[in-house]
Amino acid sequence: MIRRRAFLGGALAAVAAPPALAQPFGYRIRPEPVGDGIWIVRGADEPIASSNGGAIANLAIIATDAGAVVVDAGPSLRYGTELKAVAARLGGGTVARVYLTHFHPDHDYGAAAFDPAIVAATRQFRDLPLTEHQGFADGMYRLLGDWMRGTEFNLPGRTAAAGVETIGGRPLRLLPLGGHSASDLVIMDEKSGVLIAGDLVFNGRAASTPHADVARWKQSLATLRALPHRSVLPGHGPFDPTPTLAIDQTEAWIDWVQENLRGSLAAGLDMVEAGNVPIPARFASLKAARYELQRSVAHFYPALEATQLPRVDAR
Ligand SMILES: [Zn+2]
Repeated sequence: MIRRRAFLGGALAAVAAPPALAQPFGYRIRPEPVGDGIWIVRGADEPIASSNGGAIANLAIIATDAGAVVVDAGPSLRYGTELKAVAARLGGGTVARVYLTHFHPDHDYGAAAFDPAIVAATRQFRDLPLTEHQGFADGMYRLLGDWMRGTEFNLPGRTAAAGVETIGGRPLRLLPLGGHSASDLVIMDEKSGVLIAGDLVFNGRAASTPHADVARWKQSLATLRALPHRSVLPGHGPFDPTPTLAIDQTEAWIDWVQENLRGSLAAGLDMVEAGNVPIPARFASLKAARYELQRSVAHFYPALEATQLPRVDAR
């Protein structure tokens, strides 16, 4: 009986195996310690692609006496399922809480693996209409195909409000901010001094702006700079052991993108030309700079044109 079941299982697995991929499906989730009882799981420093299964965002795991706290959950049910096992191991057997920093699918869809009752996000995030989720889900399925199998987005069951929330004896300071997206949650782990910044901070990679409000983003960065943290765990790119290097780098990039877009518009460049201007040498070390500049052009240019160019058909 057991043998037969094992045989059938093996046969089914062989049938279900993805045909065209060189690497086996499955993420390799490797937490790296960045402080006492806190780990980073690094995402690939690349755009979302089937070669990385969408695992491009960083996330954090924190050990508490009540179980693990996870900040962001990865791109898919498959990812979330693996993450849950890894985090439970580090957290004494269970996961007590999942916080989602913002509504972008590379950070969120893994939450499908967790009970919504332990998943927390800001009030604004929870109030988003489900149609928005559906749009992102369609895009992820198109890009990632089978990596996304079974992934369904459930609305988080808890609200993350401003203030200190202590889980299993570990105080976490929650700061609902915004600017990278409509609502960005930052969490400071008071014990280690690690600031978990979500996508308000990128390190060594150009920040992505498809849903950005740059003025608000800069206000949020000023708020972060004033905190008593020791180090920064960014949404993308390596851990920053300093309090401000990655924050400053993020701000320099979003400032330059804004100035550059206004300059391109004033010079009469079209969107293709604006996306192909030279990138200053001081950003040479940033990954995905050209890619993100072009996405920023696509996002901001139409609005800038509307405000800065006179309409020829206006009476
Ligand atoms: Zn994001």
